Amino acid sequence: MSMAKHALLSASGAHRWLECTPSAQLELQFPQSTSEYAEEGTAAHELCELTARYWLGEISEAEYENQRDELAKGKYYNAEMQECANDYAKFVAEKTAVARETCEDAFTALEVRVDFSKYVKDGFGTGDCIIVSDNVLEIIDFKYGKGVRVEAAGNPQMKLYALGAYLEYNTLFDIDSVRMTIFQPRLSGVQSSDEITVKELLEWAEKYVKPRAKLAYKGEGEFAPSEEVCKFCRAKAQCKARADKNLELFDEAPDVLLLTPEDAGKILEQAGDIQSWLADLESLVSSTLLAGQPVEGWKMVEGRSNRRFTDELKVVAAMKAAGYDESLLYERKLITLTQMEKDFGKKAVAETLGELIVKPQGKPTLAPAKDKRPEFRPEEQLLAKFDK
Ligand code: SF4
Repeated sequence: MSMAKHALLSASGAHRWLECTPSAQLELQFPQSTSEYAEEGTAAHELCELTARYWLGEISEAEYENQRDELAKGKYYNAEMQECANDYAKFVAEKTAVARETCEDAFTALEVRVDFSKYVKDGFGTGDCIIVSDNVLEIIDFKYGKGVRVEAAGNPQMKLYALGAYLEYNTLFDIDSVRMTIFQPRLSGVQSSDEITVKELLEWAEKYVKPRAKLAYKGEGEFAPSEEVCKFCRAKAQCKARADKNLELFDEAPDVLLLTPEDAGKILEQAGDIQSWLADLESLVSSTLLAGQPVEGWKMVEGRSNRRFTDELKVVAAMKAAGYDESLLYERKLITLTQMEKDFGKKAVAETLGELIVKPQGKPTLAPAKDKRPEFRPEEQLLAKFDK
């Protein structure tokens, strides 16, 4: 979803205020910061919307090119972003065509304001793409991020947008179920989809969302700290409930002389949020000190720094004058694969380089048993080598 104006109970923050209802009011004390990632995401969304409008025949080629050239002047525009926008537009156009096969009145709306205030006070948002037809209403959300794979199943943000879209269009169409699809092209075109019946959606809205939104609006209910819930909360560094939960761990040290690997595993399992919490505390103390206010027991010091040339042209001239060959002063380096993909587009690079790109096996990394990735088994790797 695009990031428009923010409501107290926003859809993007729903995974937090639905779980930890007092968080929304607590967060109000802390300013919202916009990151470079958010700005990049907004630029990508604009390009996606424009490209999809062109693919859907809403604007002419000339209009598309003019506006695209304008967007291309932006700081974040590159070949990879254009490729993602093209993929998204194609995806939306194909889905629209499929919907029209069964329902000739089916239509696609881009950047639609959806209102779910019937269940969440002042709740509204903007849906990237809604395909309305009989039987199924589909909502598609474009995510430009590539760090974290976003799942559609059980995603409250998607469900709230689907709810708003359903309330908007159910008088015109016979909608039985809603499909929520996340399109995340930079994660190898990952699409994650979930479909639920309208009955399930409305029950969730009435029995779960409505009462929790009421509590959240008033800042009432129980705090529910956890790694996932607190991660993007603006109160995360100063929240007492989170601190209490994390400090509980210190009361539970095992009563032994030496810890076993099992003891260590148990502690790590319970520690969940501690590492990020400590990092948040560090950044609170550092930013306070940098703002000129003292924090007892702490000070800022100068970090490590590397020597550098003040003027590269003068460096070359000086070295040449001293008798060194100029060719020895430069090295030719290939740009990175990531940079190539940004500059020329992911597909173009993959097509050109084919098997010249390999993904080496990652180093074994510790993960909790519930992690979705398959287990790394060194003995299998070894056997596979012998089989070759
Ligand atoms: S930091 Fe965590 S526990 Fe505290 S208000 Fe935010 S989400 Fe709730």
